[in-house]
Amino acid sequence: MTHHFPGGLPTPRPVIEPDAEPWWDAAGRGELTVPYCEACGRPFWYPRGFCPRCGSTGVVWRPATGEGTVYSYTVVRRAAEPWGSHTPFVLAYVTLDEGVTVQTNIVDCSSDVLEPGLRVRAVFERADDADLPVLRFTPVDPVH
Ligand SMILES: [Zn+2]
Repeated sequence: MTHHFPGGLPTPRPVIEPDAEPWWDAAGRGELTVPYCEACGRPFWYPRGFCPRCGSTGVVWRPATGEGTVYSYTVVRRAAEPWGSHTPFVLAYVTLDEGVTVQTNIVDCSSDVLEPGLRVRAVFERADDADLPVLRFTPVDPVH
């Protein structure tokens, strides 16, 4: 049976660490950035002010393509509130074209097209309880 997974999942207000503010500022403008380490040159995830590999605090925020590929996913059918009233929904890992893997939700998507390898693009939703951009993904090719 085909199911359509809408957006609008509840999102608790995150703690925004000061050294991740460049990421949130860009997201607020609808721009996805990825932090790169100036010392070892590699991207990392999640956004923070130091490299998890070498500890350098030299971080640059580069624009991302905003596209990636579903690495893996699950359909959540039972959950505690506030998510329980929004089931089923998709929890997924998406590998961005820059090479980092993001835990996220796939929204505005049909169960008919959902599979590992699906090409997706970033969308920023606004949480109901916070004026913050929430990074989620939707199919690049909207076949639904
Ligand atoms: Zn590094």
